[in-house]
Amino acid sequence: MNSIKELWKNKNTSKGRIDITVFFVNIFLLICHIILMIIYIIADHHFMIGANIVSLIVYSYFVFTCSKKQSQYAGIVFFEIWVHMLLAIASFGWTPCFQNWSFAIIAAYFLPAFGQDQQKASYKSTIFYTSIVVLTYFVIAVAIYVVDIPIMKPLDDIMNRVLFTFNNLITFFTIIMFSMFYTSNNRREKRELSRKASYDELTNLYNRYALMQISEHIINEAKETKKPYGVAIIDIDFFKNVNDTYGHLSGDMVLESLSRILRAYSMRGIIAGRWGGEEFIMISPYDIEYDRFVGVLERLRKSVENRKFKIEDNQEINLTISAGAAKIEDYSNLEVAVSKADENLYKAKNEGRNRVIS
Ligand code: GH3
Ligand code: MG
Ligand code: MG
Repeated sequence: MNSIKELWKNKNTSKGRIDITVFFVNIFLLICHIILMIIYIIADHHFMIGANIVSLIVYSYFVFTCSKKQSQYAGIVFFEIWVHMLLAIASFGWTPCFQNWSFAIIAAYFLPAFGQDQQKASYKSTIFYTSIVVLTYFVIAVAIYVVDIPIMKPLDDIMNRVLFTFNNLITFFTIIMFSMFYTSNNRREKRELSRKASYDELTNLYNRYALMQISEHIINEAKETKKPYGVAIIDIDFFKNVNDTYGHLSGDMVLESLSRILRAYSMRGIIAGRWGGEEFIMISPYDIEYDRFVGVLERLRKSVENRKFKIEDNQEINLTISAGAAKIEDYSNLEVAVSKADENLYKAKNEGRNRVIS
């Protein structure tokens, strides 16, 4: 049962989600086979009871070991369902609808190959397996009427109806579940991609691309109301020394910590992002007074000055930042605005750093 806890622990990773789904699919298939076992026992069909014992062992093994060998797993489940289906058709004929499992396994194999991760999908094997399923579907459809099959033992009307209902319900359910799983996985991957396109990987702040997009909205609003908006560029003082003295990784740790502080100061409509390297941008919309924005920058500067930054080997260092802010009444674009703020940053650096010039 430890493995179940382990499964839940990783539920937020994409591999973890697949492991949990596989676990529930196994439980679902195990329950299906227990129900089938009861039906086969009532039908007193020794051959299918024997075949079903093998299936029960396979799924019990998968459930109790919380199977993680996914490469083999998919093949084994495919094979089990396919063989079980063929044997059941050979035993009971077409009426109980075991053939519907063909559709379920084709859906389960087609969706991941063509709908999700295009690079990892193996088209050849998907088409190969699918062709086998389609081919045997028709071969057995003919064979049960033409060939004298020794294990054939048709069921009575009630049993046929029970199995017909069971197989149809379960195969509908399986197709719906697989479609849901792959669609939601697809959506999640898309969201993740668009998140990656807008956020800087190291600091998790908006990247330059996202800042350009978001600023368009802020600039348009300012233009419509004919009010200025504020922009600031923030640069770490002597950051090169941090890299040179403590290493690039320590430099990265400082950037991460600083971005957390920036995020804390960028509430109430102020947007913060990474412009590039060790330079950050803050944009203050028209409805925040410029003086208030400069006040926020000043508090941010003081907060950085009074803080210790953790770096590698549990060391701590002091840092300062300089910021150049500008009140913008030119509504062209963010780059023009930043270049104005940059002039003030240049002044702040020249006047001795650790200051905000507005
Ligand atoms: P100043 O006070 O004039 O700003 O001095 P500075 O040393 O901070 O300025 P400079 O522009 O010379 O140095 C910026 C350094 O930032 C150089 C570069 O190695 C470092 N840097 C840029 N991006 C990253 C990054 O993602 N990680 C790390 N660790 N360092 C970075
Ligand atoms: Mg710089
Ligand atoms: Mg710098």
